[in-house]
Amino acid sequence: LAVSSSSPLVNSTRTDHPKVAERVINLDHGDPIMYEHFWRQMGDKTTIIIPGWQSMSYFSDLSSICWFLEPEFAKEVVRLHNVVGNAVTEGRHVVVGTGSSQLFLAALYALSPPDAAEPISVLSAAPYYSSYPVMTDYQKSGLYKWAGEAESFDKEGPYIELVTSPNNPDGYVRHSVVNRTRGFLVHDLAYYWPQYTPISSPANNDLTLFTVSKSTGHAGMRIGWALVKDKEVARKMTKFIELNTIGVSKDSQLRAAKVLKAVSDSCEEEGSSQEAESFFKYSYNIMEHRWKQLRVAVQRSGMFSLPTFSPAFCTFFSQVLEPHPAFVWLKCEGDIEDCERFLRGHKILTRSGVQFGVDPKYVRVSMLDTDENFIHFIDRLSAIHP
Ligand code: PMP
Repeated sequence: LAVSSSSPLVNSTRTDHPKVAERVINLDHGDPIMYEHFWRQMGDKTTIIIPGWQSMSYFSDLSSICWFLEPEFAKEVVRLHNVVGNAVTEGRHVVVGTGSSQLFLAALYALSPPDAAEPISVLSAAPYYSSYPVMTDYQKSGLYKWAGEAESFDKEGPYIELVTSPNNPDGYVRHSVVNRTRGFLVHDLAYYWPQYTPISSPANNDLTLFTVSKSTGHAGMRIGWALVKDKEVARKMTKFIELNTIGVSKDSQLRAAKVLKAVSDSCEEEGSSQEAESFFKYSYNIMEHRWKQLRVAVQRSGMFSLPTFSPAFCTFFSQVLEPHPAFVWLKCEGDIEDCERFLRGHKILTRSGVQFGVDPKYVRVSMLDTDENFIHFIDRLSAIHP
C-alpha cells in the first residue's frame, strides 16, 4: 500500500526551533488523535444535527435484550464487521457501552458466579493492558478479583481470562493461555482492525469487546460494543449498565452510527472508484510510514530494541502484510534498568513495563499521536546514543 498524496505525513515539515528540544513529548496515553486529518477531509459526511425534541427517552429498542441500544448503531456495527471481516455477528447479541471500559466491567459482573464463597480470579498473560488490574480491583468487588499473570496461574476453580489481540502493549496476536474447563474468556479486540494487524479470520468468540476509540479514533465519543453469544450473559451485561448509568448516551450512539457508516461507505466506494481511499487504507498507510520511521530511528540510536512481527495474509487487503501496532513496546538495551526514567530524562513520557506486569527495561509508547509529536519523538530518539 502506497502513501497517498492526501496523507499528512507527505507534507510534514521538521521544526528545528531551539524550543523544540525543551518540549516534553507525552506518549504515555494511547490518545488516537492522528486520525483527525481523515475526518476533516470527510467534511459534513459525519455531521449530525439532533433537535432538542429528539432522543429524549431512556429507551431505544424494547425488542432488544439491550433495550438502550440504538437500532441504527447496531445496524452499522454489523455492517462494518461484515465489510472488514474481523468478527462473526450472526448469533450474537450486541451490547453497547460507554467505551469498551464499561463493557469490560459489565463482562466481569455478568461472568462472575453470583453467590460463590470467594471472588472469581481475573487474569491475563503479561504484558497485559495496564488498566485491567486497577479496573478489576478499584471497587474491591466481592464478585471478582485480579489474580495477576495468567501463565503462572495455578489455582483450582473458575476464572476469567482476558485475551487482548493484538495485544496492548506489545502488538502480538494472542490466544488464551490457561485452557482449563472452568474458564470464561473475554476477548478484547480493540486493535483487531486492518490498520494495525492483518485480519486473519472473523473472530468467533463467546464474548468479544470492540471500541470506536481505536478503530476510528473517536475516543471522546465513549462508545464501545460487545458481541455476546449467550443470551443470559448479554442480559446480565445490560443489567450492569442499567444499574451503572441507566443506558448509554443516545447522542453518542447516533454519532457513532454515522462514523461507522462513513467507514463502511469509504471501503465500498474504494472498490468502485480509483480515486477513493478507504479509512483503513488511509490509516494503514500512516501506520506503515510511522513504523518505518521508527525502525530507522531505533537503528540510528543503537540503544533500543523493538519487537519483530511475522507478515501474514490479510483478508481485508487481500495481501500479505506486516502488523503495525498502535503502541511500540520498546526495550532499553545495555545497562539501563529503568527505561521509563531514562526516556523521561530525555523529555519523552512513556508507560513503564512495570505497569504491564513485566520488567522496567520495557516501555510502551503511543504511535497514535499527532504528526508533530511523532516527528519530534523520532528525531529525539535517533539522537540518543550509547
Ligand atoms: N482495551 C484495550 C486493550 C485498550 O487499549 C483500551 C484503550 N486504551 C480500552 C480497552 C478502552 O477503550 P475505551 O476507550 O473504549 O474505553
